[in-house]
Amino acid sequence: MKIPDPVVAVRGLTKSYGGRIVVDHLDLDVHAGEVVGLIGANGAGKTTAVECVQGLRRPESGTIEVLGLDPVRDAARLRPLVGSQLQSSGLPDRLRVGEAVELFSGRRAKDADLLLERFGLGHRRRYAFGTMSGGERQRLFLVLALLNQPRLVILDELTQGLDPSARREVWSAVSQLREAGTTVLLVTHELDEAEALCERVVAMRAGRVLDAGTPAELVARHASWATVRFALPSGRPDEALAALRRLPGVSDVTRHGDQVVVHGARAVIAHTGAWLVTRGRVPDDLRVEVPDLETALLALLDASTHDLTGAA
Ligand code: ATP
Repeated sequence: MKIPDPVVAVRGLTKSYGGRIVVDHLDLDVHAGEVVGLIGANGAGKTTAVECVQGLRRPESGTIEVLGLDPVRDAARLRPLVGSQLQSSGLPDRLRVGEAVELFSGRRAKDADLLLERFGLGHRRRYAFGTMSGGERQRLFLVLALLNQPRLVILDELTQGLDPSARREVWSAVSQLREAGTTVLLVTHELDEAEALCERVVAMRAGRVLDAGTPAELVARHASWATVRFALPSGRPDEALAALRRLPGVSDVTRHGDQVVVHGARAVIAHTGAWLVTRGRVPDDLRVEVPDLETALLALLDASTHDLTGAA
């Protein structure tokens, strides 16, 4: 089958509950082979949007195409092509891993054996679902979502409540999907997860897209500062501080004991480095701090609050 691109095309999706709009004219494309993450505030409409993409909810207006098909009207054709992660209560406790896989895999059991091995569950076939750890359950949900080699995988809060090592296991499973070229749409609150896994993130608030791009693009647009710290050069500290203050992009230079802290635009990293090198100093303790996606999202949400307040 030739995979249509975009794999997911959402245009003007609007959905409300009890007269309150929770997804508001949403446009979203997910291209073939991309891992795209929906991020944003609680109640932003992320889950509702992916539920519409999965055909679990009917949009009020707008159009959705998944692999060129309508998720509601063509649900039966899409079922074997789209793998969706179950919710944590999605399987009965007494169901064994092997039985769950047989239930979901239909005729293609070979596929199932390979997936169980790949996600480290080959030896767990006889375990009841209720006895498995959180990480094992999430990996089983991934196995079930991947049966029949879906063209698109949809994951919602994949690692919620998992311990750090279980999170890493599940991340590595998603990275394997990405390497295999599977298209993935995921919803997450874990922004380190979004940074580690997603090629592109879409930041939502109040049913709308605030911004979209690679995690690095969002950081550059909404939290573009940097801080450089190092031990002060010996001799004439005031002159050194004054020289640092004159460097392009520097907004603030402070002293904390023997440490100097240079703060400003991203360019201060390069300019401070060049300044040190031209003075023959390459400090061992030089540290650079740049904001992460979480800081960028908080800044973006904060700015959008001002916009909303300003507009009111
Ligand atoms: P979170 O990050 O908190 O999971 P989200 O971005 O996934 O949120 P949704 O779960 O889509 O957001 O919810 C959007 C809004 O719609 C919320 O205010 C929520 O309370 C409301 N909502 C969701 N499902 C229903 C429903 N079945 N009936 C009524 N309201 C709902």
